[in-house]
Amino acid sequence: MIELQQRLAAQGVHTVLAQFTDMHGVAKGKYVPLAKLPELIDTGAGFAGPSIWGTGLPRTGPRAEYYARAEPGLVQAMPWMPGYARAVCSGFVDHQPFEGCPRQVLKRATAKLAERGWTLKTGIEPEFFLLKRGESGSWLPADDHDRLDKPSYDLKSLPRQAGFLQALNETLTACGLDVLQLDHEDAHGQYEVNFAFDDAMSSADHIMLFKLAAHALAEERGMVFSMMPKPFANQPGSGLHFHVSLWDEAGRCVFSPDERDGSAWLSPLGRQFMAGVLAHSPALCALAAPTVNSYKRLVVGQSLSGTSWAPAYIAHGPNNRTATLRTLPGRFEWRLPDASANPYLASAVLIAAGLDGIDRGLDPGPDCTEDLFQLSLPEILARGHGLLPQSLGEAVDALEGDGVVRQALGEVLSNEFIRLKRAEWIEYARHVSPWELQRYAATF
Ligand code: GLU
Ligand code: MG
Ligand code: MG
Repeated sequence: MIELQQRLAAQGVHTVLAQFTDMHGVAKGKYVPLAKLPELIDTGAGFAGPSIWGTGLPRTGPRAEYYARAEPGLVQAMPWMPGYARAVCSGFVDHQPFEGCPRQVLKRATAKLAERGWTLKTGIEPEFFLLKRGESGSWLPADDHDRLDKPSYDLKSLPRQAGFLQALNETLTACGLDVLQLDHEDAHGQYEVNFAFDDAMSSADHIMLFKLAAHALAEERGMVFSMMPKPFANQPGSGLHFHVSLWDEAGRCVFSPDERDGSAWLSPLGRQFMAGVLAHSPALCALAAPTVNSYKRLVVGQSLSGTSWAPAYIAHGPNNRTATLRTLPGRFEWRLPDASANPYLASAVLIAAGLDGIDRGLDPGPDCTEDLFQLSLPEILARGHGLLPQSLGEAVDALEGDGVVRQALGEVLSNEFIRLKRAEWIEYARHVSPWELQRYAATF
C-alpha cells in the first residue's frame, strides 16, 4: 500500500472519485476503490472516449479509450462526502497526454510561460445563483422574499443562506483553500465566494472543487446551485472574473511597475500582455463566454434593473468596472469570463493572448477613464473601443479566424469546440421561442 493510500485510509476513505473535466467545464468521473489508487495514478481509469464532450474521439474509432489519470499530489478527502476522496485527473490516450483534455491544454500553456521563467497567477471570482423550482417547472431564486430593487450586499437574504455558505466555507477551507469573503451579489438569489489567488492551474482546479462542493451542498438543502451566466433577463448575470498577474522565478510580480514607469499601475510588460488580451478578445469570447446564454450578459445598454457590470466593449482603464479589463496596481481584472466558462480553457487562451501581446510588443492604447455604461454605442466606437461579439455565433467565427487562440487549444479541441459550439448556436437560432409566438403569431 502506498503512503498516500495509507493516509487516506486513516481518514476513513474507501473510494476515490476519479474526476476529470470535459470541454464544457463540467466535472465527470467514476468511483474507484481506494485499493486501486496505484493503478489510477499509473494508468488511469478508462472511459469510452466518444461519450465525452470535446474529445473528437469518435473519429478515431468507436473503441477509442480515454484514460483519466490521477495527479498524485491532488488526491484529497471530500469533506461533504465522508469516505470519498477526489482525485484530480488529466486525460491520456494511448499512454500519451491527450491534447484535447482541457487540463492538458492548460499544462501546455503554463509550460510555455515556464520556458521564460514565468508563472501566471489568477484569482478567479465565481458568482452563482441558488435556485428552486416553482410551479409548472419554472426556475426561481431560492431566497427571493423581499424583492429589493438592488440586492447587492443584502443582509436580509444573506443570513437565510448562512447555513449553505458556512458549509461551503468549511468544506473549501478543509480542502486547503484560503477563503476570503462570501457575499450576496447584485441579483436576487445571487452570491459570490472569493478565495486567495494562486498559480493558474491550482486556481482552475479550485474552481472545479468549488463547483462540485457547491452543487452537493445546495442539493442537500433542496436548492439548485447554478453557474448559468444569465438565468433572469431583468437581473444581472454571473461573471467569473480573473485577477491576473505574472511572476518570475525570484517571486517578483513582473506586472508591477518600477519608478521609471511613473504613475502607471502596470509595467510595460503588463501593458503588452493586456494589449494581447484586448487584441484577441473576440476569439477569447468563445471560451470565456461559451454559451448562447452568455451573450445575454454581455449586452450593449443597460437593463431596467440598472447596471449589470458586465462588459460589452474592448477597453481597459484604471479601476474601470465598465471595461473588459479593469487595471489595478500590479494586476488586471479580466471581466469578460462568465460563470459557464471552462476555467482551464479560459486560462490557457488568456495566456496565449497575453504572450502574443508581449511577443509582438503590442500597445493597449490610452486608459479609458469614462463610464462606458453612460455612453451610447456610437460614442464608444468613436473613441476607438471595439464591441465584443454579441452572439455565440459571432464569437465562434472570431475563434475560427484566430490562429493564436486556436493553436493554444490544439487542433483536436479547437476543431471539436468550433464544431459543437456552432451546432449549439444554430440549434438555438432556429428554435422558435414562446416570445416569438407571443409577439408574432396573431400579428401577421
Ligand atoms: N455580475 C457582474 C458580471 O456579470 C459583475 C459584478 C461585480 O463586479 O462583482 O460580470
Ligand atoms: Mg462580483
Ligand atoms: Mg470582480
